Amino acid sequence: MPFSQLGLSPSILQAIQDAGYTEPTPIQAAAIPPIIAGGDLIGIAQTGTGKTAAFTLPVLTRLTNNPPPAGQKRSTRVLILAPTRELVVQIEENVRAYAKHQTPRIAKIFGGVGENPQKEALRGGSEIVIACPGRLLDLMNQGHADFSKVDHLILDEADRMLDMGFLPDIRRIINRLPKKRQTLMFSATLSKEIESLTHEFQHSPKIVQIGRRSNPAETVTQMVYEVPRHLKLGLLSHLLQDEKMQMVLVFTRTKHGADKIARKLEASGVRCATLHANRSQNQRLKALSDFKSCLVRVLVATDIAARGIDVDGISHVVNFDFPMHAEDYVHRIGRTGRAQAIGDAISFISEDDHGSLRDLERFIGRGLIRKRAEGFDYSASAPPPSPDSDGRRQFGGSRLGGGGRPDRGGGGGGNRGGQQRRGGGGGGRSGGGQPRGR
Ligand code: AMP
Repeated sequence: MPFSQLGLSPSILQAIQDAGYTEPTPIQAAAIPPIIAGGDLIGIAQTGTGKTAAFTLPVLTRLTNNPPPAGQKRSTRVLILAPTRELVVQIEENVRAYAKHQTPRIAKIFGGVGENPQKEALRGGSEIVIACPGRLLDLMNQGHADFSKVDHLILDEADRMLDMGFLPDIRRIINRLPKKRQTLMFSATLSKEIESLTHEFQHSPKIVQIGRRSNPAETVTQMVYEVPRHLKLGLLSHLLQDEKMQMVLVFTRTKHGADKIARKLEASGVRCATLHANRSQNQRLKALSDFKSCLVRVLVATDIAARGIDVDGISHVVNFDFPMHAEDYVHRIGRTGRAQAIGDAISFISEDDHGSLRDLERFIGRGLIRKRAEGFDYSASAPPPSPDSDGRRQFGGSRLGGGGRPDRGGGGGGNRGGQQRRGGGGGGRSGGGQPRGR
């Protein structure tokens, strides 16, 4: 069905045309008409499926169709909650592009940057507020937000927000919104936790499910290289000699590991940037923009920091450290092959990863292709431990973590200490009862 038959307003159709989209993605075709009709909705879709437009386009149409009464001063009508600053920035870019012929005021709210511009944006009555829950709640508690006219609430990546311990903040925020509103929830999984969230916050939601969460995009070729841990960096450099690896996203388990890889690759002449929770907000945005504009060829990231990042044209995702959870694998490789593009996902498998690989293959219901790098010397022996080594491994590898703590902390912008989060093992995870620390 073409966009023109989904009930979108003319200014939105114009913006879609400007964006160069020719037809709706499946989640858009399924979600847009019921959202325009005004009902609550749960969209189960991975990032990369066009889900941001699936909620933004119909909500903007509804704002046009239902303008505020003449004379009423500007007020917030739409609140979008998302787990990370990167995702907030990305949603804002999308909303701006789709709303270019409507020009609503848009505020983005997240931690790690000064509060004053955000307070002003809230007090100025931005029609659309896109926010990480922690910072938003802080500003609401200081009395800077008037959400009495909010009639659209969107929870994006709801599963990850729960995973990051945002539920108490989300509850406090939603309790202060008008009861009469449209609530849309997007999540990669339909877990028990998500179901209970819908009972709490939605009324008879329609469920729109596109693809199963455990299915990575068919356009991604997935392959595995078995390699001793001490040779992973050498193998990565070796593979990067292939010019087809033009735009490469490398995942590590730890911030420390990400920095080390970037340093070594830079030293060998490969332009690199890093994205993890120890980087400042400005450094993270610059890393993303340098990667998007191909100023750097490799972006080395941890899971949380890279969550939901939307970069067109990523040619390869490399799991330098194999993910502990199958869901993280699916999220990671969802960065490539987006919107039907072709991409490759490469995973390094070391001594301790065989169990996780078996779990993953069960989870996605297929075996991954085993590859051996031609011309790479697999026989080099491990270097002796360095004198200052405390016995920890440099690049993870064990489920209990290697050189440093897993990066679960700072990606949420305002995600604060003291909140309880649930342990691992629930929601279809592939095993490992270890709580994923923050
Ligand atoms: P998302 O799942 O929202 O992160 O979107 C993934 C990518 O698909 C973004 O780069 C969008 O700009 C792009 N996109 C969204 N809808 C369409 C469409 N109908 N046709 C082509 N690309 C799209």
